[in-house]
Amino acid sequence: MSGHKLMFSGLKLCPSGKNRWTNRLLSGVSGRGKASFSSCSRPKVCIVGSGPAGFYTAQALIKARQDVQVDIYEQLPVPFGLVRFGVAPDHPEVKNVINTFTQTAKQSRCSFYGNVTVGKDVSIEDLQQAYHAVVLSYGAEGNRSMGVPGEDLAGVYSAKDFVGWYNGLPSCQELSPDLSCETAVILGQGNVALDVARILLSPIDLLKKTDITQPALEALSESLVRRVLIVGRRGPKQVACTIKEVREMVNLPDTRPEMVEADFEGVTEALKDLPRPRKRLTELMLKTALEIPGEKERERRNAASRVWGFRFFRSPVEVLAHPDHKRTAGIRLAVNRLEGEGEGSRAVLTGEVEDVTCGLVISSIGYRSLPIDPAVPFDAGKAIVPNHMGRVQQAAGLYCSGWVKTGPTGVIATTMNNSFDTARSLMEDMDSGKLDISAAKPGSQSISALLEKRGVKAVIFSDWERMDRLEMRRGEAAGKPREKLLTVEEMLQAARN
Ligand code: FAD
Repeated sequence: MSGHKLMFSGLKLCPSGKNRWTNRLLSGVSGRGKASFSSCSRPKVCIVGSGPAGFYTAQALIKARQDVQVDIYEQLPVPFGLVRFGVAPDHPEVKNVINTFTQTAKQSRCSFYGNVTVGKDVSIEDLQQAYHAVVLSYGAEGNRSMGVPGEDLAGVYSAKDFVGWYNGLPSCQELSPDLSCETAVILGQGNVALDVARILLSPIDLLKKTDITQPALEALSESLVRRVLIVGRRGPKQVACTIKEVREMVNLPDTRPEMVEADFEGVTEALKDLPRPRKRLTELMLKTALEIPGEKERERRNAASRVWGFRFFRSPVEVLAHPDHKRTAGIRLAVNRLEGEGEGSRAVLTGEVEDVTCGLVISSIGYRSLPIDPAVPFDAGKAIVPNHMGRVQQAAGLYCSGWVKTGPTGVIATTMNNSFDTARSLMEDMDSGKLDISAAKPGSQSISALLEKRGVKAVIFSDWERMDRLEMRRGEAAGKPREKLLTVEEMLQAARN
């Protein structure tokens, strides 16, 4: 988008303010004809990141105050963060939140500026000068590494990159994972691990109808992976996934489960003491692992060409190299026992190890937020921006929401709640005077000028809508809901056409 489109949003008319702050601000306005930031001194808030946290924070602020202007800055030319680049392609219902986010983006008091990387194209200090408050909602872009030898061999991927690859994240398109092996090992037993397992084993006819990218679809249609093991440090009662994802594995066409009976020792007896959601999940795993299937299910399992299974009480020790020393040939796992009971139990090494032959290792042990700008406090141990109820510690006017606030756990609904909490803190600070909104701020006008000077071309929401339409048209031709644009260049070109 051109600089002048960005300027345009700075000329939006001031709405009539409802509360005492706005009234006070507006009473000081001297009418000089053309609206500019000095004649339109309403509270201006900017949000860094356009995932669920960014949009839910914007929604709450706009709904609660009639006078606030909210600008969202996003590093990619396209909005919605992990809803677009994380949520599995075969979970289209989860992506319906995009409709709510779109309504927010189309509000007259909300603007979206994509293709702007905060910390690189503009600093936090630039934003703080332009806005009364800055909310950091930039998610968790890094991943936790396993920290074991062999981790850098070909054939070892992080779930973050693998998911980014099949979901069209531009930075992951070069991944081209090698799927020419029979067995894949996924380390971690959370929902992301199960998403990856499901995508690796799903019949292509199911994936074809989703918004998975064409290159991923082609690679998966030629994949030789027939067996996926989902490995966890602890036992069946401690898995981090939810029942929906396990049920999807159990019902996945053309697959059969393969569990280790001994892993479930004592689990049946422990069922009665488990809280309800955990109990139902454990019952499903027990049934899948131990129950002799009925005739129909037995037939289905016998006919299946692919296998999946949980492997419990195992931690990675080393990724084993093929004799050519270039790629992975297997993984050495330490055998653990549990100390303590329930959620708080700890995996302790027994000293035994076990080698599993595999050509693909995907580590799904967690995402991790990264520091964005030296001016922003960052807790490197917890990998979050340290905060109290969304107020960044020792940084007036700075707030945070979403995964960068809490760490990378929880579903979109959890992110929504913590974003609403942050918006509430911010509004309380505006109302109490703790956040000074008495001076007029230029908002996007000054940032637009900075970006123009720095040669950065931002895109706005209507540019995204153009990309969206193009993706849907391309998808229609292929019988899919959309065919995603895969590079930043393609996206920017579509935005301008
Ligand atoms: P994000 O969604 O990551 O958004 C952060 C945004 O900030 C991104 O758009 C990013 O590009 C942008 N950004 C980063 N750095 C900068 C910068 N320097 N400048 C400007 N912008 C920046 N939840 C469910 O409810 N259902 C599911 O099925 C589900 N599936 C998931 C699958 C995966 C693989 C993952 C990882 C998560 C899944 N979740 C799911 C959880 C859900 O995605 C998260 O709860 C939610 O996305 C967190 O929101 P967020 O806004 O904090 O982070």
